[in-house]
Amino acid sequence: MKASTLAKELKNYLLNEEEGFFIAAKPLKTKKIATVKTESAVKKAVTKKAKPEVKTVVKDKATALAELAEQITKCTRCELGKTRIKAVPGEGNINTKLMFIGEGPGFDEDRQGRPFVGRAGQLLDKIIAAMGFKREEVFIANMVKCHPMKEPDNPEKHGNDRAPNQEEIALCRRYIEQQIAIISPDFIVALGSVAGRSLIKDVPTFSAIRGKIYDLNLTYATPAKPIKILATFHPAALLRNPAWKKDAWADLKILLAAMGREPAKTIVKQG
Ligand code: SF4
Repeated sequence: MKASTLAKELKNYLLNEEEGFFIAAKPLKTKKIATVKTESAVKKAVTKKAKPEVKTVVKDKATALAELAEQITKCTRCELGKTRIKAVPGEGNINTKLMFIGEGPGFDEDRQGRPFVGRAGQLLDKIIAAMGFKREEVFIANMVKCHPMKEPDNPEKHGNDRAPNQEEIALCRRYIEQQIAIISPDFIVALGSVAGRSLIKDVPTFSAIRGKIYDLNLTYATPAKPIKILATFHPAALLRNPAWKKDAWADLKILLAAMGREPAKTIVKQG
């Protein structure tokens, strides 16, 4: 083979992208590779570059939840929207691993627009602390966002709370499901029979599902990752039946074990 033909073939071979020699055949690229920064400089650059992405995700999550809360405060999909004082969308850490979901707002929540702020809320705070969290580290919400009352014409009456009915739960369900999907926690505690039977399985007795861990299945939203859910007694039920506190704590320890966590070293007395 002539020297000129050999040189031509060699050049073609070196420029063949499929053989992986394309870059090696281009000395200018090699020069650029020589300007690669030190490892610490690269780390700095990566960190610098990664930050805005994280901020964007957090902002999007916050924005999505704020928009949902706005819809909830204007909602009149069910009758509860006509008699509420304030809707109660929910509150807490939007990046939490753990969410608590109750059945609906009561007298105090209706007036403050915040979930679990009455006596049951004080007990929930103690339960959260006993689990080794602060209230502000978790997200707390309800199945329905407006106060179900036995006597809606008598809103100032105490002891007027009732559980939401099936129709109210069905009409409000998309809100809690969207909140779950946006927050995307690893674990959910369903507080009480209404939340447990709505989110896990509609079984005749709550005891059939209480204290077991299930995979969460939603109807209106798709979370980005699998979520585990466990149901235990509602704090209001624990106030009425203090003997159940022992069982509730046993349920929550099952959840803590699944989370790979120990209960708080100082257990807050659940009075
Ligand atoms: S309970 Fe839910 S569905 Fe009913 S009015 Fe309130 S936000 Fe709307």
